[in-house]
Amino acid sequence: MAYFIDVILPIPLQRLFTYSITETEANFLQQGMRVAVPFGKSKVYTALVYKIHQEAPETYEAKEIQQILDEEPIISPQQLKHWEWISSYYMASLGEVFRSAVPSAFLLESETIISKHENCDVDENSLKDDEFLIFEALQHQSLLKIQEISKILDKKNVLPVLTRLIDKKVIQVYEEIYEQYKPKLVRYVKLHAKYESEKSLQELLETLNRAKKQREVILTLFSISATAKKPIKVKELATQSKASSAIIKALIDKEILEEYYIQRDRITYNGGETEDSKQLNQYQLEAYETIKTAFKTKDVCLLYGITSSGKTEVYVKLIEEIIATGKQVLYLLPEIALTTQLITRLQQYFGEKVAIYHSKYSIHERVEVWNNVLENKPKAQIVLGARSSLFLPFSNLGLIVADEEHETSFKQFDPAPRYHARDAAIVLSKIHQGKIILGSATPSVESYYNTKIGKYALATITRRYGDVLLPEMELVDIKEKHRKKRMKGHFSDRLLEEIQETLDNGEQIILFQNRRGFAPIIECKTCGNSPQCPNCDVSLTFHQYKNQLRCHYCSHHIAMQQQCFACGSHELDSKGFGTQQIEQELLELFPKVKVGRMDLDTTRGKYSYQKIISAFEQQEIQILVGTQMLTKGLDFRNVNLVGIMNADSMLNFPDFRAHERSFQLIQQVAGRAGRTKKQGKVIVQTYNPYHQILQQVSVGNYEAMFTDQLNDRRQFQYPPFYRLIKITLKHKEYNRVNESAAWFAKSLRNSFGDNVLGPEFPPIARIRNLYLKNILLKIPKNQSLGKTKDMISRVQASFLSISTYRSVRIIIDVDTV
Ligand code: ADP
Ligand code: ZN
Ligand code: ZN
Repeated sequence: MAYFIDVILPIPLQRLFTYSITETEANFLQQGMRVAVPFGKSKVYTALVYKIHQEAPETYEAKEIQQILDEEPIISPQQLKHWEWISSYYMASLGEVFRSAVPSAFLLESETIISKHENCDVDENSLKDDEFLIFEALQHQSLLKIQEISKILDKKNVLPVLTRLIDKKVIQVYEEIYEQYKPKLVRYVKLHAKYESEKSLQELLETLNRAKKQREVILTLFSISATAKKPIKVKELATQSKASSAIIKALIDKEILEEYYIQRDRITYNGGETEDSKQLNQYQLEAYETIKTAFKTKDVCLLYGITSSGKTEVYVKLIEEIIATGKQVLYLLPEIALTTQLITRLQQYFGEKVAIYHSKYSIHERVEVWNNVLENKPKAQIVLGARSSLFLPFSNLGLIVADEEHETSFKQFDPAPRYHARDAAIVLSKIHQGKIILGSATPSVESYYNTKIGKYALATITRRYGDVLLPEMELVDIKEKHRKKRMKGHFSDRLLEEIQETLDNGEQIILFQNRRGFAPIIECKTCGNSPQCPNCDVSLTFHQYKNQLRCHYCSHHIAMQQQCFACGSHELDSKGFGTQQIEQELLELFPKVKVGRMDLDTTRGKYSYQKIISAFEQQEIQILVGTQMLTKGLDFRNVNLVGIMNADSMLNFPDFRAHERSFQLIQQVAGRAGRTKKQGKVIVQTYNPYHQILQQVSVGNYEAMFTDQLNDRRQFQYPPFYRLIKITLKHKEYNRVNESAAWFAKSLRNSFGDNVLGPEFPPIARIRNLYLKNILLKIPKNQSLGKTKDMISRVQASFLSISTYRSVRIIIDVDTV
């Protein structure tokens, strides 16, 4: 009897691949285990067992597997079911889902490069011979390819050894070397243990009688520790005792003080007491009851609660109940920035039951969370994470909270699978027969519409917690202000007045500048030329801090020019403005004020969000300037003014969601103001104060915005009435993109007629030397999605059979946002 397995390979090909196995292997293997298999001429891949059977493949001879990598399945049938849905719905291969779903440490392959683990302190004697050989090789050479390891060990199959070494933390996958993060260590001091007793202490103080300054330090140390039982920072001690660092160092050298370090910014829970959850107020309680009742008949409930209405506390109550039944909970957020504040909040209530999972975590941290979830440990009963946490091996998921459900950043764009995490979460909760809450202060038109047609349940909270009024919004016409010369840089007199007043009251300010299309570019005053990226069809943007011109699409950069490239003129002007420029202007307008900035440039490191956020919380920063990032879900206590520098760029964005998004964005940023006692203030600067959306948002009329948008969408055939699939073609030759896109669109039109739009060049038609052209397919609700996708796949297959088109890359984005 011959035995075979079908496996999923982590590659974009749609199909499964069949390998032959022995009878013993067949008895041992189960779906969801990994095996190492040969592929192509010389590659080895980690593959996932999908099916065990006895039918030999018809068209090729099955190769043998190299090795079984797991004792037990690492992927559950529920996960596979979810992967299959994602693969089919978003038109990606199961292999692509496999690749993005598991931590890369699970996917060793022949191309993988490994290095020594940075914290490797293994006892060499505990290593087996083959393990030791690799360990030793890495002492001489920092990076090894798997083929090289094969040579060292003189055998083909090295994955099991490597897996063992990864487990023992001797090696790591290369990717991790790129991790920028260095833990920030904070220096603390305490009295040396020998002075613990009263008596020895007395003696010490006497001996220090002549060293006045040192004595002062010790006395200060006492007074600090008497008032607060907490570790004492060297810095704090130095300030309070007015001692120089040399004096403290002398005390350390004399072994009177002992220094030690604590890693500050690592988000581990250090055990303190957990608190009881808060008592819900009347409005929260009503929402909570509504949700509970709704869950008896429905699986999805939208919680529409205005900003600062206390949605989180409602989730907390529901989470408490679910975990009491032993089930797991997933708390999904669209952005890592948001996890920072929430971690602390959830840990207060749930202590170490909360695990965090997102892409800024290292492979090892991710593998750890993965394993805890897999083993259904209490330590990971509640997972807080960004979209990739959907792929964790839950076995018993009772509740998903998808917070800020309106955020389009829930959609994965690159690489495939291009899934929408909110929608994939709804499917996941169904697979687990669990429930899901979508939460937002500005629900997406789609979700709100789904409550209107009875697909989702709806719970609402219409008051802020503590009955604080929503901030008052003022639209400032900057066209008018310019005309009357009442602008200083990008600040209107109204905004400046309000800033001054807020500062005088000791309150904080958030200034929002939409990043899109608003980074400063350089323009020649003489000939109008502005420096372009050689790889992309965009102007380079000016980064003052580095004095560079940079491309935001491909990172190409050059030093800032003193002269125009085209005409040599020295008169260069900067156009548009970004967060940096606002920061700069602020520093000139308010030289004494501490200004912080939160945007892509300032938040690259692993904990940089956290640092900025906590500096603002601690009021070390008075004005925070930022992009989209600071719009969502952050809860600052002392912010009373929000300024939106320019509302127009968002409104004018060429996208059918532009109006909805502008409403959401403005409402969300506005929601950061006045969250505690006093009503906050929002100043919106615009050239177009009578714009419908600005009128609606200024009075917080979501319902009107929704009705208008829904009418437009119905009329112009957009979601939620139609589905959209965007097909993008990419190639380095302009003509080839043009021709092939025309061919593709024409073939689609044969089946779908006028519901095919394009092909069209996007606003930026060339990125990283590739020309782009988009085709948009609109799918009416009554048209079978499955058949539509089959047709697209067929068109794609014929497309690829045309030899000149074969090198054109095709990207299919289902439910494009
Ligand atoms: P949302 O997520 O709706 O914007 P939050 O859940 O962040 O609102 O709540 C806003 C603030 O009000 C938070 O600081 C929270 O601690 C506080 N809060 C909300 N509900 C309660 C409650 N029931 N008791 C005490 N404080 C609450
Ligand atoms: Zn010029
Ligand atoms: Zn570029």
